[in-house]
Amino acid sequence: MGKGLLPLLLVQKFGGSSVATAHHIAEVARKIQQAVEAGHQVVVVASAMGDSTDHLVDLAGQLVAIPSGREMDALLSTGELVTVALLAMTLEQNGVPARSFSGGQAGIKTSYDFGRARIEAIDPGPLRRALAAGITPVVAGFQGVTDSGDVATLGRGGSDLTAIALAGALKADRCEIYSDVAGVYTADPRIVPNATPLSSLSYDEMLELASQGAQVLQTQAVEYAKGHQVVIHARSTFLDEPGTQIEAEPVIAVKPAVTAVALNRHVAKIGLLGVPDYPGVAAYLFSSLANHGINVELVIQSLSHDKLNDIAFTISEHDVPKAKPIVQECLIHLKGQSVIIDDKVAKVSAVGSGMLGRPGVAATLFQALADAGINIQMIGTSEIKISCIVDRSDADRALEHIHHAFGLDGTEDVIEDD
Ligand code: ASP
Ligand code: MG
Repeated sequence: MGKGLLPLLLVQKFGGSSVATAHHIAEVARKIQQAVEAGHQVVVVASAMGDSTDHLVDLAGQLVAIPSGREMDALLSTGELVTVALLAMTLEQNGVPARSFSGGQAGIKTSYDFGRARIEAIDPGPLRRALAAGITPVVAGFQGVTDSGDVATLGRGGSDLTAIALAGALKADRCEIYSDVAGVYTADPRIVPNATPLSSLSYDEMLELASQGAQVLQTQAVEYAKGHQVVIHARSTFLDEPGTQIEAEPVIAVKPAVTAVALNRHVAKIGLLGVPDYPGVAAYLFSSLANHGINVELVIQSLSHDKLNDIAFTISEHDVPKAKPIVQECLIHLKGQSVIIDDKVAKVSAVGSGMLGRPGVAATLFQALADAGINIQMIGTSEIKISCIVDRSDADRALEHIHHAFGLDGTEDVIEDD
């Protein structure tokens, strides 16, 4: 960014690990200063330092079993306030006029759902006035205020949402999300060492990956970005890597069938076997689970045989203790034969909008698992995703084989239209 370039309005968000220590904050301040000195207007959004939000959660847990939502949010919102005050004073000392803002001071109005509040409105006035006065606003992420002035937080990882929502409200040219990872990869590099960084992917692909366990961006934030058409640029804070652009549908020459693969290890499989086949069975089972707040993912029902059905589904491993008594009750009520619960499975998924209307993608994936001798227990698909449930001990290998089969490690040609 040299002089003479068109000045831009940028939102720059820095995650917890980017501001973990005083030293990190000084580095981040230098980075912001560079953008300001290049002539850009910058709105900074920051997370709490390092793991400080976790420590606050811990602290509350040492005193109170079930703290009130209002007080929990009053507590958790302080982490971000520490960072923005430190960052603003560092910028000022370096000669960059800056001012810290709480979420409320930045005009962010939220719903009353403490701990997972939605952003209901943003008054861009306060930040616009600061920018017009040549002041760089440094906004506390993850929070806003309700109509009655109570602080409410936006769910864990919610600083991403703050940044994206502000970028939308201010009509920023770019929303840059800085963290300790250099963007989105074709797979988690800790599992698949030859995963490669993606230069771009679509909101829908990112949403599928995020819901499958990729933790680069908060899911609600990506949904908001999609709804408001905010282009996200996910980058590393301290490495000069190009990063990943997340936008409507990237224009690239040949769209590969699969953009990335993801692994969710924390999956459990539940089966109700020999359930009489009549209308309302699935409705009874799944509304019982839903009424207890249990989210169901893949569902399969076998073809009816002898007027009996097997129904299997997956849930989060963490919900197993809650789900057990419910499915036992359903088994009795529905007069089924038995229940199986396997909490040692994992879900591997291949995601890509390039698989739309392209035959053979599922076959390639299944063949990759067959070649590796990995048994597929369940299969689920969406328009741009294929998921398989496999034994958890096979999960890493499954991911690696699928990644390789679709040429994502660059060792094979990308499968193209034929
Ligand atoms: N500090 C909050 C959290 O750890 C919000 C964020 O980091 O985005 O969840
Ligand atoms: Mg955090």
